Amino acid sequence: MSRSLQYWQAKSESLVPEGRAFIDGKYVSSISGKTFDCVNPATNKIIAQIAECDRADVDLAVSIAKQRFESGVWSKRSPTERKNVLLALAKLIHENMEELALLESADMGKPVQVSFAYEMPEVATYVQWVAEAVDKLYDEVAPTARGDLALIRREALGVVACVVPWNFPLDMAIWKCIPALAMGNSVVLKPAEQSSLTAIKLAEIIKAAGVPDGVFNVVTGFGETVGARLGLHMDVACLAFTGSTEVGKYFLHYSAESNMKLVWLECGGKSPNIVFGDTEDLDYAAEMAARIFYNQGEVCSSPTRLLVEETIHDEFVAKLVKYAECYEPKDPLDPSSLMGSLVEDGHTQRVLQYIEIGKQEAILTYGGEQMEINGSKNFIRPTIFTNVTNEMRIAKEEIFGPVLSIIKFKTESEAIEIANNSIYGLMASVFTSNLSRAHRVSEALQAGTVAVNAVDMISPLVPFGGVKQSGNGRDSSLHAFDKYSSLKTTWIKY
Ligand code: NAD
Repeated sequence: MSRSLQYWQAKSESLVPEGRAFIDGKYVSSISGKTFDCVNPATNKIIAQIAECDRADVDLAVSIAKQRFESGVWSKRSPTERKNVLLALAKLIHENMEELALLESADMGKPVQVSFAYEMPEVATYVQWVAEAVDKLYDEVAPTARGDLALIRREALGVVACVVPWNFPLDMAIWKCIPALAMGNSVVLKPAEQSSLTAIKLAEIIKAAGVPDGVFNVVTGFGETVGARLGLHMDVACLAFTGSTEVGKYFLHYSAESNMKLVWLECGGKSPNIVFGDTEDLDYAAEMAARIFYNQGEVCSSPTRLLVEETIHDEFVAKLVKYAECYEPKDPLDPSSLMGSLVEDGHTQRVLQYIEIGKQEAILTYGGEQMEINGSKNFIRPTIFTNVTNEMRIAKEEIFGPVLSIIKFKTESEAIEIANNSIYGLMASVFTSNLSRAHRVSEALQAGTVAVNAVDMISPLVPFGGVKQSGNGRDSSLHAFDKYSSLKTTWIKY
């Protein structure tokens, strides 16, 4: 599946991305006619003009989505019929992986080969998994007395709005939109303003797969306008959000101020990774710990707080540095690149500020420098701080860049206390060869997922989401369907 640098360069030169919104089965300019620049952060070149939608565009998209929901053109199709359309979608995503990977890379700076070889196949697999599940969900009959029959059935909600971030633009959109569609809802998707291109392309593919016009819509634009309007809209029944904890809280307000719509939040993280001295394969553990640099460290569930037992600390850090070297930033079109550019200049500056804070608080052991590649300065070397304590800002705050904070600990209970002392609770990892300890610590950790002798385990087979201020609700697995349906009881006396 590997392609050469020249191959990706030639493909990227011939790429002409669509930048318009998608409403009622058609690409449309914003009603105001306004657009904003889509900049490739790895070259600083403008690659498209994106429709700058506003309140009027959202209102139009929501009203069409609602009309189509009520018409039953999708919502009343049988689960098997919806399955077949979504299976066709999975196939089309597979056929369009190359373009989707290029759009994703050009939009937010990630290495194209990684996106093409891993992320896009995962997107297609996810759609396929959801499709195959949807006609295997049975409803319930309650254990009533004779003469009564109580049916408990799932019902679609109506219009589901999905507001997503820029770090895995297509994955995050798919995680929300596909189970929502599978349940029979109509969807309005708002991609992050930094990364609209794959959401826009997805609309065309969804239509080609056979989803009726107006059932799936994309409104592009800014959070303060499009995102807020979706959050406040009286005809949006459910708002599924992935993004920062700060913005997640706005959506709870929007819901309270409008129609009490369901709000599902997948927010930030500062995930701990605890490496005990009894870990059998420290090399493997170090290789896994270095995966914090995957996707330029722009990963919500990344294990950014590394807790290492004092007895192995120095040896482990030395091994880790060796693996961190593999993530030296390169041109995202270079197929050997494991780390591309950060999403935009503003974010690069924010990460660099955290590195400066880290230099005051702790010891910079590796990296920390900004790099210039192809005229762009949005590249930052993998960065490792040691002598970090859990009270420092680099241990407490989500940096969302390639910055790892290493904290030393002495005992198991101290490690658990440090790990849980965070406002977040998305993911946690434990490395140990002691089975009892693995269970004991997993049980004690406050997180939506605990990975033992692994990091960041994500699959359509298991729920994904957080506790505390990492959010509520779960994406993926059969539990994702719960977010996009409500339970209705029909009680029959006979
Ligand atoms: P963000 O919160 O700034 O933006 C996310 C989305 O919300 C975007 O579409 C944005 O336009 C919109 N938005 C911004 N301000 C808004 C407002 N005032 N009202 C309504 N909508 C608004 O997040 P980001 O910078 O795009 O992404 C990074 C964040 O996402 C990190 O905190 C990361 O942890 C989180 N994230 C979480 C998960 C998860 O599953 N838990 C996955 C990926 C990313």
